[in-house]
Amino acid sequence: MENNAYSGLRKALLEIAYLGQASTLLNWDMEINLPKLGHKARAEAMGYIAGLNHGKFISRKFEEILMRAVELEKSGNLGSEDSFIVLKTLSDFEKARRLPSKFVEASERLYGEAYEVWVNARAKSDFSLFEPYLTKIIATKRQEAEYIGYANPPYDALMDNYEPGITCDAVFEIFDQLKQFLVPFIEKIKHSQVKIDKEFLARRFPIDKQDEFIRMVVRAMGFDFDRGRLDVTIHPFCTSLHPTDVRITTRFDEKDFLNQALMSAIHEAGHGLYDQGLREEYFGTPLGDAISLGIHESQSRMWENLVGRSLSFWKYFFPKLQKAFPEQLRGVSPEQFYKAINFVEPGFIRVDADEVTYNLHVIFRVEMERDLIEGNLEVKDCPYVWNKKMKEYFGLDVPDDARGILQDVHWSGGLVGYYHTYALGNIYSAQFNHAAHVQISGLENKIAKGEFLELGEWLRKNIHVHGELYLPEHLILRVTGEKPSPKYFIDYLNKKYSEIYEL
Ligand code: ZN
Repeated sequence: MENNAYSGLRKALLEIAYLGQASTLLNWDMEINLPKLGHKARAEAMGYIAGLNHGKFISRKFEEILMRAVELEKSGNLGSEDSFIVLKTLSDFEKARRLPSKFVEASERLYGEAYEVWVNARAKSDFSLFEPYLTKIIATKRQEAEYIGYANPPYDALMDNYEPGITCDAVFEIFDQLKQFLVPFIEKIKHSQVKIDKEFLARRFPIDKQDEFIRMVVRAMGFDFDRGRLDVTIHPFCTSLHPTDVRITTRFDEKDFLNQALMSAIHEAGHGLYDQGLREEYFGTPLGDAISLGIHESQSRMWENLVGRSLSFWKYFFPKLQKAFPEQLRGVSPEQFYKAINFVEPGFIRVDADEVTYNLHVIFRVEMERDLIEGNLEVKDCPYVWNKKMKEYFGLDVPDDARGILQDVHWSGGLVGYYHTYALGNIYSAQFNHAAHVQISGLENKIAKGEFLELGEWLRKNIHVHGELYLPEHLILRVTGEKPSPKYFIDYLNKKYSEIYEL
């Protein structure tokens, strides 16, 4: 009887996970294989299955199964991991229940329409077309925060959707320190006398050779191709159906191998390693799922930047790269190459930003979202505020809305309270990287010899296998001995770029 209550919950969770798998696969296929005119029909099918899944989760039947398991948990007869699964499922259930189905449906419809309006507004570079939709989206997100509930302020509730446990105040405490460092640091780099030659990066690199090289690097990182795939897409991403079926993508451009194809692939493989590192036996439960977007991004950023743009990494891979592309890299030294892939230049576009300027792009978006949700900024004033911040932080004059406020898809899809996870990912990555170097002896030398196994294993046992067991803040404290802090990221940038730019 008792065991039945728990196994009943596990079975119900599995059924929900199977539907989730179907959604994930339809989405992956949409990104990779879908013919041009197939989008509308696919979106309808995906919407139906997502609704079915949500409905199943918040149904009376699921509630009954869950409550039986909760009773069992209260009796103290479950082990700690099983007990965690029951209680976490209960809190997820209660949260999902707080949003009325009608509200969820109406929001999804709004985001669907807003996305098409945004695509058109961006193509015409005209914010006024998107403005009425963004106004509705902000109102919807405020309503959502009210339904979910918050201690203070409402933006906390939205942030919590993607990075559980962290508050707006805590995020801005970290961001303000980072901003204080970044703005003058970028100014110093701009005035550095060091000239970096990166012309050779734009030479023609044949795509079949790019693909071969990428597979070699990603495999060396520990990405298991028996439990994953690599495909081609326009916007690189990683998606997971199961720890034994993790799919990463990259994009190819003959004249931009390193920053487009290779670095995107390394980034996505970092995400992929997290998903492959989750425990199979807990598939479908909170123990088999990643804890947050920030922690996920810390894994991708660590491999992409702290490892993949380090001199040690290229000590090992540069000779191989030069062998694969002798024409393109004739006369280029590893040091020249290292500097070229770490070139810093403030620009308008977040997704093209280097690792120094990137976080400022994120920080000012988060500042704007907070002000929008708190009612301290009106949607109609957003382009003005956006452009003002670009001037203040980067010294740049935004030429048009397409290269300004309309560049990112997030708001049109209702992703408000999401951006901070990108910057937190960078901050966490440096803190994890520091801890890894303290705890794994000779790690830098190992990287320089192409030995990544120990690092991969360290990440797996310290981060991946725990699923959602620890909130990000607790996980970081557990692994690094400290709460999340921007200190390590600031130290990392300061050291690396002071050397490159001779500051
Ligand atoms: Zn990512």
